[in-house]
Amino acid sequence: MKSLKFFFLLCFWVIFQGCNAPESKESTSVSSLLLYNGKIWTGSKAMPKASWVYIENDKIKDLGNGDNYPSADKKIDLKGRLTLPGFNDSHVHFAQAGALLLGINLLDVNDDELLVERIKKTTQRLPKGSWITRGDWGAYEAWNAGSEGGDTKKAAWQPHISLIDDITPEHPVLITKYDRSEGLANSLALDYLGIEADDGILKGEILAEALKQVPESSFERKLAEAKRGLAECAKWGVTTVQDMSPLDRVDIYQYLKDRDSLITRINFSPSRLSEIGNMVAKRWVINWGDNPSPSGDDWISFGTLKSHIDGIMGGRTARFFEPYNDNSVEKRFWRGGWREFSQDMPEFKRLLMEADEEGIQLRVHAIGDEANSILLDILDTLDAVNGTRDRRFRLVHAQVIAEKDFARFGGKNIIAEVQPYHVTDDMRWMEERIGHERCRGAYAFKTLEDAGCKLAFGSDWPGTNASYYPINPLYGLYAAVTRQTIGGMPESGWFPEQRIALESAIRAYTKGSAFATFEEDIKGTLAPGMLADLAVLDTDLFETEPSAWLNANFDYTVVGGKVVYSREE
Ligand SMILES: [Zn+2]
Repeated sequence: MKSLKFFFLLCFWVIFQGCNAPESKESTSVSSLLLYNGKIWTGSKAMPKASWVYIENDKIKDLGNGDNYPSADKKIDLKGRLTLPGFNDSHVHFAQAGALLLGINLLDVNDDELLVERIKKTTQRLPKGSWITRGDWGAYEAWNAGSEGGDTKKAAWQPHISLIDDITPEHPVLITKYDRSEGLANSLALDYLGIEADDGILKGEILAEALKQVPESSFERKLAEAKRGLAECAKWGVTTVQDMSPLDRVDIYQYLKDRDSLITRINFSPSRLSEIGNMVAKRWVINWGDNPSPSGDDWISFGTLKSHIDGIMGGRTARFFEPYNDNSVEKRFWRGGWREFSQDMPEFKRLLMEADEEGIQLRVHAIGDEANSILLDILDTLDAVNGTRDRRFRLVHAQVIAEKDFARFGGKNIIAEVQPYHVTDDMRWMEERIGHERCRGAYAFKTLEDAGCKLAFGSDWPGTNASYYPINPLYGLYAAVTRQTIGGMPESGWFPEQRIALESAIRAYTKGSAFATFEEDIKGTLAPGMLADLAVLDTDLFETEPSAWLNANFDYTVVGGKVVYSREE
């Protein structure tokens, strides 16, 4: 019985291995590795630059300049290429990203042809019987129409079951429009759901119910999604992700780790205050003391809990001191109305206090200036009631800060967990929403940095149902350094006084993110004794224009002394 089960598992494994597109390498076990002849930016004060790094097992043993390096089992000639500490993405939704990569992404789809093409490709990736769901078609089209002004909207594209039925005889399909106002099902899915719809279109309550009835992904599918996500991280030089996936994903990470197949380090944080008791029971808390550290190990660590204090700018649910500039109709929303916080603020504060008391590190989503201000008040209360300590309280997004509040960031190791690429995406409508003056405090990385706040960069991969945020950290560096759109606008950058230097940006994406999880003494810089996590680029960021970074590649990604991605071999 057991061997039969194993056989099926193996079949799944083989099938799914086949769908892992990029050439991510499973780790080859070596006891020593030398990277030489390079331009190594270490991020460490003791030796800021080196030409070689010598690794034994999973840690850096030595670095230096010149030709006097030790011999090793394996050698990589860097040929002068820039080498950085591995990137640590402080904000990802890993499960969603994996599901999107392995499943279907329709954000850019707005016609029959592209839909058919995407569906066909997805059926080739997924084993027979697997559901094809979500996709969020029409998002980019709606976004563009919105930014051009309401009237120019093209007649909305309407998909039909006849487009997909013939090409999906063995995959139930229930895909959705970006705003989830409608969905398209194929016959197989309609049969399963027991719904009749000649055109395949489901709306409103029927759609919501149907989505709930889609069977939960199998362990094997989640595993395949995770592997696909890990391969993407490795491809883009990301060696740690700070993840907020559903709790069941921890089993997947553990499964991979046990098989020596986890190729990205995971710092995992639940994202509901209702998980406090569960975290305490599992001892997912920070080990406080002279040198605080997360629980778990170097590969999967815990201790942080994420929550929300407001909504988002797009839906005008972010909490501001003053109303939005463009909200004459939707005035009632301008103070948020979102998730756990706003239902009951005293209870929200009480839960934060309780989590803090239990030794959990807090990270709270805050977009509007009032939301951020309230969090700074809460931090003061934590200090006063639970006692001061090096909490590394994390403001997630820290998107708009009131001028009066910048001075409050000094000397407290407050973390701004920010996603610079959001700037390039949001700048197009920020001023319309909140006006020019308030935008001075928006994504104000330079002012935050100068005020003593610690920056921890990340991507928010894979983004929302309106836009895809790539895991590629070079997009984040570009945005932080230029504050321009991908197309290079505006010429001098949006609020250019908030641009930061490339070195600061790299630091925020490496050491800064490690600091945010109390792990800066084991990763984020390249120095003897540190984990051997590093990334080799084909482009010297220090010698090229930022626009060139957007097309740069990673040639090698090394995690724990193992090459987990190589573009060359
Ligand atoms: Zn997010």
